[in-house]
Amino acid sequence: MAWDVIEKTAGTRRASNMPDYEAARRQFTWTEARRMLDGLPGGRGLNIAHEAVDRHAAGPLAGKLALRWLGRNGTVRDFTYDELRRQTSRFAGVLTRLGVQPGDVVASLCARIPELYIAALGTLKCGAVFSPLFSAFGPEPIHTRLEKAQARVLVTTASLYRRKVSDIRARLPHLEHVIVVPGEAADAPAGTHNLRQLLDAADDRFVIPATQPESLALLHFTSGTTGQPKGAMHVHEAVVAHHGTTRTALDLRPDDRFWCTADPGWVTGTSYGIVGPLTVGATGIVDEADFDAERWYRILQQERVTVWYTAPTAIRMLMKAGVDLARRFPAPDLRFIASVGEPLNPEAVVWGVEAFGLPFHDNWWQTETGGIMIANFASMDVRPGSMGRPLPGVDIAVVRRTGDDTVDVVTDPGTVGELAIVPGWPSMFRGYLRDEARYRRSFAGGYYLTGDLVRMDPNGYCWFVGRDNDVIKSSGHLIGPFEVESALMEHPAVAEATVIGKPDPMAYEIVKAFVALKPGHEASETLRLELIGFARTRLGAAVAPKEIDVLPGLPKTRSGKIMRRLLKARELGLPEGDLSTLEPEPAAGTSTSGGTS
Ligand code: ATP
Ligand code: MG
Repeated sequence: MAWDVIEKTAGTRRASNMPDYEAARRQFTWTEARRMLDGLPGGRGLNIAHEAVDRHAAGPLAGKLALRWLGRNGTVRDFTYDELRRQTSRFAGVLTRLGVQPGDVVASLCARIPELYIAALGTLKCGAVFSPLFSAFGPEPIHTRLEKAQARVLVTTASLYRRKVSDIRARLPHLEHVIVVPGEAADAPAGTHNLRQLLDAADDRFVIPATQPESLALLHFTSGTTGQPKGAMHVHEAVVAHHGTTRTALDLRPDDRFWCTADPGWVTGTSYGIVGPLTVGATGIVDEADFDAERWYRILQQERVTVWYTAPTAIRMLMKAGVDLARRFPAPDLRFIASVGEPLNPEAVVWGVEAFGLPFHDNWWQTETGGIMIANFASMDVRPGSMGRPLPGVDIAVVRRTGDDTVDVVTDPGTVGELAIVPGWPSMFRGYLRDEARYRRSFAGGYYLTGDLVRMDPNGYCWFVGRDNDVIKSSGHLIGPFEVESALMEHPAVAEATVIGKPDPMAYEIVKAFVALKPGHEASETLRLELIGFARTRLGAAVAPKEIDVLPGLPKTRSGKIMRRLLKARELGLPEGDLSTLEPEPAAGTSTSGGTS
């Protein structure tokens, strides 16, 4: 099924935060966006945690539900804005008493437990830099990141500490304090602080010290999809973009119940799983458990979620579980659904309409951009397969690099080039940690170059083609993987698809596809040939894959991105490279799992 445009009604447009996109773009300034926030009392600067928590706790939203945490086993913990203020103030006080200074890095290694959220906001309150690590990392990826960040403090759980940190601690000379959320036994391992005891002893009032818009606030490691993860540094001013984009791209309002399924170990789970919804004064839902189709539908229904932000991997897994399951759990409060992290196939956008009566709204951004840059907005018609249009205040161009510091801007609509953004938006990264040269290489001709290839259509919608390194050159054609993958996804047996360029003496490269099947379909030679024929009919012989392998699942990063580079390395018999972010792969005969950030 393919729909060219999913139109929005006049009523939907009017009811959204940004009813007229063109007008909003014309009128927008970041200075105005900054005015929607408070700033620290007494003109002492800008602080993310103040905007997210304290300013609401000091006003009419004090008693409002800020976070609802759903435990794996059915426990529910609620935090009002005032409760969150008190807990995060206590945590900030704890850090200050331990001697943590502005600019010091406080890392976390926690599953999605309430203490992670308290630690994140409390760290920002005390003026230190928060760096979340994904809790499923093994000891070596944890060591690499903590060492690179020179973290002084780590917040983790007793169990994670014992399993993953105690053995590497001697190799972390900068790590002075480990604060541990005690387990069932209520004890903290030797050499660690007990978070419960520290919080209980701390004052629930805390005056946030001066932090400036340019003070470092967040250190996020990228997903490692294309190589070694990079540490992207962000400042407190990023909150201006977190707040503004949450309102415009996610259409969030204070009366919303918002569920961002991403883990705070990745940037989405922080910018939109913690900061954005709180700055708006909405209620955020956090689920501790891993992906489970039925559980997710129950949450949407029982928590009366109004706005839902998830990722293509999760959507594809829901699709695999079948639309009937979705229909067993009607969620009438749901009014806006969005996706980020990977290209969203048109098939998946349209499936949203079948399952929820709403299209998925794809949006695009990166760890480096800190916030959403391109989106399908609530007030705009959706063109399935497109990432949408740039946010107000974000100027993009399609370019070709012509030298170290020069680019040509591509002006023809439809022509493929690298997505470039004019620097100056508040959540732009301020550097790659300890890699100044790489940071500088990301800019040329007055643009930040994203490494992603796109084309713009005459309506100003932006279409993802592939990552710069993933584009396939075959018999003189440039083939974007996304187009081929989307065509394969239209076949009823295909749950996931990805393609690589395989070296070929004649064609330079040929398109090779890897697919995973939906339940009820078996790999066979007949199906393989059928898929090749199916793709040929849709794409033409020049673009369609020449080879297709059926796998039990596709290798993914823990943030849910398909790792093409790994498939390619295996295909070519080359070293597999940095696998620190690889999600454990399904064995033959099992169904796909995968990240859900
Ligand atoms: P690394 O930089 O370490 O290789 P990564 O780029 O996957 O990892 P992230 O910053 O988490 O790390 O991901 C951003 C990238 O994800 C984007 O550059 C883009 O390639 C992809 N992406 C995100 N959203 C979308 C989207 N809506 N459509 C297409 N691609 C997307
Ligand atoms: Mg990247």
